[in-house]
Amino acid sequence: MSESTSESRANDSARDFDAVIVGAGFAGLYMLHRFRELGMRARVLEAADGVGGTWYWNRYPGARCDVESMEYSYQFSDELQQDWEWTERYASQPEILKYINHVADRFDLRPDIQLNTRVRSANYDEDATRWAIETENEEVLNARFCIMATGCLSSTNLPKFKGLDDFKGPTYHTGQWPHAGVDFTGQRVGIIGTGSSAVQAIPIIAEQAAQLTVFQRTPNYSIPAQNGPLPKADQQAIKAEYRHFRESNNEMPFAFGSKYHLREDSALDSTIEERNDEYEQRWATGGLPFLFAFGDLLFNMDANKTAGEFIRRKIHEIVNDKAVAEILSPKQVVGCKRLCADTNYYETYNRSNVTLIDISEDPIECITTEGLRAKGQDFEFDCIVFATGFDAMTGALFNIDIRGRDKLALREKWSAGPRTYLGLTTAGFPNFFTISGPGSPSVLTNMLPSIEQHVDWIAECVAYLNDNDYAYIEASTEAEQGWVDHVNSVADSTLYPTCNSWYLGANVPGKPRVFMPYVGFPPYVEKCNEIVANGYEGFELGATVTG
Ligand code: FAD
Ligand code: NAP
Repeated sequence: MSESTSESRANDSARDFDAVIVGAGFAGLYMLHRFRELGMRARVLEAADGVGGTWYWNRYPGARCDVESMEYSYQFSDELQQDWEWTERYASQPEILKYINHVADRFDLRPDIQLNTRVRSANYDEDATRWAIETENEEVLNARFCIMATGCLSSTNLPKFKGLDDFKGPTYHTGQWPHAGVDFTGQRVGIIGTGSSAVQAIPIIAEQAAQLTVFQRTPNYSIPAQNGPLPKADQQAIKAEYRHFRESNNEMPFAFGSKYHLREDSALDSTIEERNDEYEQRWATGGLPFLFAFGDLLFNMDANKTAGEFIRRKIHEIVNDKAVAEILSPKQVVGCKRLCADTNYYETYNRSNVTLIDISEDPIECITTEGLRAKGQDFEFDCIVFATGFDAMTGALFNIDIRGRDKLALREKWSAGPRTYLGLTTAGFPNFFTISGPGSPSVLTNMLPSIEQHVDWIAECVAYLNDNDYAYIEASTEAEQGWVDHVNSVADSTLYPTCNSWYLGANVPGKPRVFMPYVGFPPYVEKCNEIVANGYEGFELGATVTG
């Protein structure tokens, strides 16, 4: 054997894996850990130069979680959850990033994580029943399983504003924030967008900047987070019964908040006074459990209107200028766009250095060398912040040229909207899994338990294939069609599809209007388990060719 052949064989085996996992956020790290536990060889490929995913990229001022720290954390290891100490009710981005790095070290994951590696394509070879995963560094890795842990909110959406490159100052996207941070002191800052990221960033930027101008297309409902230090005693009390605490949260519709009463009655069955008392209490408690005030807020338009009226009244109480309060007052269904949780968001509009520009009727005309042009007026800035969100759920997947059987491209298959079975698999793509993919509860839940549930399901499935000598698993077209219909019909029974949200792809021009996540975490988990109990119902299992 020539030296070069043996060298290339050695390289081949170095590039042969049981599984390639794309993404080193919460999903990719836990998936790697589970493959290791199965005694399988897995490699994580990550575009960034560090682990953390969302919490690596989104370093804008004020970035923090709006699911409580004791809940937005892994539950797979009791030692980990007992050891780790959170400092605030809602963890900040630096603290979450520190936690993820701790997990990577604690479970010795780094040797199998390849950073600075963006995946360009993934092609399924039917004869070999293997995936070839190609990176932008021209490297090709082969694997039996290809797992996309690429994130629901990881592909930033930068609208194609005319003149985007003309601006002479720096521009920043909240989802790709410079690691060194940005000092806005004395600056004239323009910010576009008023979603969750902007709602967190605006109060802090306003404290630094000489002048902050906010361009708002659609106002969002925001509930005060009521964040604060997490008392040690509270943390200890949860740790003393952590398993029970996790179980109760996993029974909640959004996989969090079991310590807050989830009312089942209709908002319309209470008197106006009772209702307002309930909303006042929820406002004082803070954050997303506001939506637990009544059982029908996301199902009954009249019930939802009562919540909307309450929040609008609050905005008018907080914001001194009536005209500004009116512009900040959303009209859409509460919760239909993701509810925000803030610290001093509405209060910030009482500052003399903050101006709100309503662009709901007049889109931004263009970016100019000095700033931007909107409503026939030129605005001058030292820097511009784009808080314009993400090409959610499908964006990161479509950035990769993924091809299954017969070279079918995922982009083509999903051109009219994503089609999955359970949000985990898609027909025509054997041994290919998406963690928190479209068609799963994902972004409608506390994503940590959702991610762990997906990873555990995939790991058990892989173990089952191994134990029974199956070469591959693939969703059937019929099962997939049934799931797509079910996801749509559940969504249509709610108020979610009634406004232009990123859940529907409405924030990205040209994206098909399809409600992508699945509403209902506990029934979903039951369904996933039932499918396994029925011998992977709806899947085709391919036998290994031996000899
Ligand atoms: P991500 O963390 O997005 O990681 C995906 C990784 O894949 C990224 O590191 C990315 O670089 C990498 N990747 C993508 N494509 C490629 C490629 N082609 N090649 C190589 N690498 C690639 N969820 C909650 O439940 N509660 C919250 O309070 C909450 N707050 C959030 C705040 C912000 C600012 C954002 C943006 C999201 C928030 N989320 C929240 C959702 C959050 O995305 C998830 O909770 C979770 O972090 C997702 O983990 P993940 O591993 O699935 O994906
Ligand atoms: P987002 O919710 O999609 O908000 C983007 C904002 O940009 C919206 O106000 C949108 O207006 C505006 N926008 C988009 N394109 C525009 C255009 N062409 N012209 C003018 N305005 C435009 O994005 P995000 O704030 O980054 O949040 C995304 C998701 O990440 C959240 O919903 C949440 O799930 C998660 N997140 C969570 C937290 C947290 O508190 N834990 C923080 C940040 C993010 P329209 O509404 O009119 O489209």
